[in-house]
Amino acid sequence: MKKVLVAVCLTAFAGFSYADSAVKWGYDGNIGPANWGDLSKDFATCKTGQVQAPIDIQTKQASKNNAPIKTNYKASAGEILNNGHTIQVNLADGGSANLGGTDYKILQFHLHTPAEEKIDGKSFPFNAHLVHQSADGKLAVIGVLFNEGKENIALKEVFTNMPSTEGKTTLKTPLNTGTMLPSSLAYYSYAGSLTTPGCGEGVQFYILKTPVELSSAQLSAFKKIFPMNARPVMPLNGRKITEGS
Ligand SMILES: [Zn+2]
Repeated sequence: MKKVLVAVCLTAFAGFSYADSAVKWGYDGNIGPANWGDLSKDFATCKTGQVQAPIDIQTKQASKNNAPIKTNYKASAGEILNNGHTIQVNLADGGSANLGGTDYKILQFHLHTPAEEKIDGKSFPFNAHLVHQSADGKLAVIGVLFNEGKENIALKEVFTNMPSTEGKTTLKTPLNTGTMLPSSLAYYSYAGSLTTPGCGEGVQFYILKTPVELSSAQLSAFKKIFPMNARPVMPLNGRKITEGS
């Protein structure tokens, strides 16, 4: 019984708990990121946390000693959810990734514009966060950065069928997360947090160095629903950045 309860809680956590909180938050004005920590005591970590995400990754500080990412993704049924803060694709059985020697099952991925992480101060117009969970409940996120360019075929159905208001729709074609990754999985890694309230910590990030592309029409379609849904970068506070190839 205890195990079941833990699984339910972690699922809500990994789903970023949006629906669980009645507190309204957003990306600008009084309910914007600078005020998240004051909107609810459940959001206090947004203000007091010392290992918050996203960050501006200073590549000169990265030390090279991590294992390569190995993926074992598979095509999965799922749903495209508009949760009022992002478009999130929940996957029923999407396979796993081996990150730092541990297997993590993919739960969902969701989208931000502009990209939340920066690299040496450089911003990207868009990113995907692929949220994974290990058997013992740890969370790890693979970050994929996007530049404007060619149409993204892997996410074509997502961009075409994403709900424009809160709600969800079923994926018509099973989606394999691997199809949205660049050919190189070289990455920068850092310890961070959820980038949305309540900003819970204990999330390891793996930001892929190689961007992929989406078309300007795809980016515009997303921005029509969410003009801006990125938390600003947070202080590093002495955290180490590692990298792997
Ligand atoms: Zn995210």
